[in-house]
Parts: sequence; C-alpha cells; structure tokens
Amino acid sequence: MNYYGFKKRTEYMHCPPSVKGRARKIALEMAWARALGRFPFSDLMKETIAAIATAPGNGGVGMIRISGPEGISVLETLWEGEVRPTSFESRRIYVGRIAFDQVLAFVMKAPSSYTGEDVVEIQAHGGRRGLELLLETLLKAGAGRLRMANPGEFTQRAFVNGRIDLAQAEAVADLISASSEQAVTLAGRQLEGRLSEYVGKLRNEIKVMRAQMEAMIDFPEDEDVQGLRYEEVLERLQSLETRIRSLLTTYEEGRYLREGIRVALVGKPNVGKSSLFNALLNDDRSIVHSTPGTTRDTVEEVLDFSGLSVRFIDTAGIREGRDAIEGEGIQRSQRKIDQSDLILFIFDVSRPWEEADERIRTLTTARRTVLVANKSDLPPAFDPLFPAVRVSAKTGQGLAELKEAIRRPYLGRESRVQDPGVTLSNLRHRVALEKGLEALDCVAEGAREKRSLEMLAADLSLAMNRLGEITGEVTNDEILGEIFSKFCIGK
Ligand code: GDP
Repeated sequence: MNYYGFKKRTEYMHCPPSVKGRARKIALEMAWARALGRFPFSDLMKETIAAIATAPGNGGVGMIRISGPEGISVLETLWEGEVRPTSFESRRIYVGRIAFDQVLAFVMKAPSSYTGEDVVEIQAHGGRRGLELLLETLLKAGAGRLRMANPGEFTQRAFVNGRIDLAQAEAVADLISASSEQAVTLAGRQLEGRLSEYVGKLRNEIKVMRAQMEAMIDFPEDEDVQGLRYEEVLERLQSLETRIRSLLTTYEEGRYLREGIRVALVGKPNVGKSSLFNALLNDDRSIVHSTPGTTRDTVEEVLDFSGLSVRFIDTAGIREGRDAIEGEGIQRSQRKIDQSDLILFIFDVSRPWEEADERIRTLTTARRTVLVANKSDLPPAFDPLFPAVRVSAKTGQGLAELKEAIRRPYLGRESRVQDPGVTLSNLRHRVALEKGLEALDCVAEGAREKRSLEMLAADLSLAMNRLGEITGEVTNDEILGEIFSKFCIGK
C-alpha cells in the first residue's frame, strides 16, 4: 500500500512534469482510481491541512488539528519548548509555547492516526479569537506547505487512506450531529463497523457464488448437474434476499432515530399553537437547538423526548392573522404538513367547532396526526367525537400525555435499538440495498429460466457493486463530494 492506499501507481509515475503532463497525470490517476473503484484523488491529497477542530465559541480548551507530511516541520518553526517537535514521540503530550499562547501538543505519526497521515494536534486556550490567531500564525509559518482544511477533509483522508470505510465516515458526521440519545447510540454502532460488517458478509456470499459460477463457466459440466446447481443458486439467493429485506425493514425506525421526527403544529388562528409550542419548549429542559426552518417563515426547535429527537416546525413570531384560514394561511399549513412526519392538529375546545377547523383538519388526513384539544382549562363548548389529547398550553395540563402521544408511534419498538442488531438509517444505504436486491432478483429470474451462467454472473457482479457502495468499495466522486461536504470544518 502506498500513501493513497493503492498498491500500484507505476502507470503514471513516468509522466513529464509539464503542465500538460500534470493534467495527464491527474487524468491517469483518476482513471486508475476508477478502475479500482476508489476515490479519484488529486494532488490536493498530498497537501498538509489545518483547521480549528473544536466548535465555534469560547471554551476552556480549543484544538487545532493538522494533517499531512509538513505538519511537524511547521510546528517546529514556531515551537518554544524543551523538546523539539521533530523529536516528539508519537502519542506523547508536550508543553510549549506558540506565539502568544501556552499550549499542549502531540503528534500521531502515520499510519497510526485518524487520517492515516502524520497528525499534529495542538490544545490551546479555547477563546475563538485566540484560536483563529493561532491558526493564522501556523498558516503563515507554513505558507506554501500548509493550507486550511475543507469541510470533512480529515475524515475524507481517513477514508481514502483506508482507516475507515464510507459507512463509518458517515457515522462520524451522524455522531457529531446527533441530537438524541438514540441517535448517538445508532451512530456509535455504525462507527464501530456493525453495518459495514453485516453488509460485507452479504457481499462476500455473493462474491463466493460468483466465483463458483465462474469456475463452472470455465469448467462446464453436464446438464443434470447444472440443473441442480440452478436450484442451489436459487436457495442461496433467497436466503440473501431475506436478510436484505429484513435489513431494509429497519430503515424507517432508523431514520426516525437518526434524524428525529419533524412535527408541525397546525390549526386555525388563536387556538393556541404558539402558546403550545412555547409550553412544550419550556416544559422540556433538554432543548438542543433552534434553527431557521427550511422555508423563510418557519422556525424549528429540536427537543429530546426521552431518546427521540423531535423537531417542531412553527411559524412562531409570525402573526398569521385573519388570512390564516384563507389562501395564504392554508398554503402555509400545507407547506408545514408536507415537511413533517407528524402533525399536531390543534383546536380550541372552549369554542364551537367551525368550518375552518374542519377545512384544516381535512388537510392533515393523509398524514399521521395527533388531534389536540387545547384550552381544556376552560369550560368545553363541545365534546369531540374523535379521540383527542386534552391539553392546556396555559396551565401545562396534559403536556406529558401529549409528549407520549408524539413519541409512542416511533419508539414503540424500542427493542430494536437495544438489540445488538444492525439498523439502517441512511437513505443512501437504503437505495444501494434496494438496487442490490433488484440485481439479485434478476439473477433469481435468470436462474429460474436457466439462463447462461455468464449472464447470472454479470448480475451478481452488479449486486456486489451495489452493496459495495455502502462501504465505499465502489464509489464515485459525486457521492463522495456530497457526503464530505456536509461535514463541519475540522472533522
Ligand atoms: P395561535 O394563533 O394559534 O398561535 O394562538 P396563540 O398561541 O397566540 O393563543 C391565542 C390566545 O389564546 C392567546 O391569548 C393565548 O393566551 C390563549 N391561549 C392559548 N392557549 C390557551 C390555553 O390552553 N388556555 C387558555 N385559557 N388560553 C389559551
């Protein structure tokens, strides 16, 4: 294995170092990478990169991470301390000064580091401005040798250098963004390699089957024996397909656990949507964060409901006014409904049920909906004929029941996460498995029709490639770009 994790690169080593030659070299690198089904890297990968790895804001400690061959020598030029960085032992902590700050630094030498390259980590005081100045100082000292890292570039290098596979790289991002306990558990398992291992086993079975078919192609035998083998192929395919299907059934729950659920509050004006939104927020001390919604007129708040992350979408702060039940208001409700997994349909139980309530309620019928009778602290004007959770945003009555009603349909099957099985939670993985399944279906059909082994083997290869996309054994630039661009800088 060389620096890129490839076994051979003699094919492009003799290119002339002209600009034309350089372009040719990169083109060859890419072709070579594609042939191997690996990430088409470029010279960018050889550069040393640096970034602040800790979160924005002031903290006790802040960390700067550097990865690449020049890291140690850049540190050497700035380091004031007893031991010189060039003679730092790998994974030992040293105290020193860099410019204005007293810091701790350590190196992890290639290949035993997160990225598989030489990594330098500097722990400094955690003021944001101080860290930025320290990073600038390092970049200046390393001008021409050191540059700012792109989002996810450290993890991308870890993947390209074979330290982790693609599903694990995705788990790193999931773990960072996890906003509930269940999401953390799920990402932790994927990072450990459970999904990769499971998919790897399935893929290996397909590989063995294909190898056997190829052997039969090379050494054909009489028809009887082949007939029997078709049956055997079918049996093995069925076992594979059953396992893939069962893995696919975990997706829905996995997605809810990983991403949480999106909940919209809808109802006509003045029924208490904003009050309820605030009551739920205030009642819960585990507010994770608040972000602008996907449309300009919404805000989102994420709460952890005993392990399930619940993202409330609201038009908080925006007065819906009288038009809320006409045109614009209906459209706004529809948008919220379209963006959500669950709808809280709120009505005012202290006032008669109106045409407008009915109109908004009919919008929600296509979705999972919880009906909420608000203002239960007041004398009721009617008795709902449908099951509704009685609450009062004003007194807080019924909030616990409401939370349970939101959570129950999603975490009713909690056992799956407790059980050490594998859970699918990423759409990309689901699509790859579905395509793999399709290819296996083709093989099964071919086997039933006793088509040529060459054809079956080709479909088996396709199925193998599909499963290989999950762990990144087979991938392309576009997928990788998309995955790593979602990371934060410094990871
Ligand atoms: P929205 O237009 O649906 O967002 O409704 P608001 O949250 O602005 O509430 C409308 C009015 O109803 C306000 O005056 C609230 O104080 C009042 N309100 C909301 N919830 C309750 C409740 O549970 N009980 C009572 N008595 N009043 C409420």
